Amino acid sequence: MPNAIVSILQLKCPKCRQGDLFCNKKTYQYKGFFDMPKHCDKCGQDFEIETGFYYGAMYVSYALTIAIIVAVFTAMYVFNIFTIELFLILDLLALLATLPYVFKVSRSIWIALMIKYDPKAIEKHEHKA
Ligand SMILES: [Zn+2]
Repeated sequence: MPNAIVSILQLKCPKCRQGDLFCNKKTYQYKGFFDMPKHCDKCGQDFEIETGFYYGAMYVSYALTIAIIVAVFTAMYVFNIFTIELFLILDLLALLATLPYVFKVSRSIWIALMIKYDPKAIEKHEHKA
């Protein structure tokens, strides 16, 4: 059984943990970046649960952004290199570098909070089809 955290980080369907949440698997490729399939291609789970479902993912990405800023601050503090200028520059670089992944993983976390894992999801879907 795939681990919940791993499946979230790998942007997998929360129900079967095998199907992909995003059409485009390359995080840093711009084309088709926002595209998600309507349904999981493995278990048929609906990915567009309701209109505006992913607005909630903004709160997740906000929390992740704060976590990144805190991590940068902590690292600078630990290495005793803190200056406000360097802090702002490193924050900006860290946030820009992680932005595409933060966007996707926020949606992955959000949908995983709403959909329960079903180890038999794929089996059930195949029987229906
Ligand atoms: Zn699935």
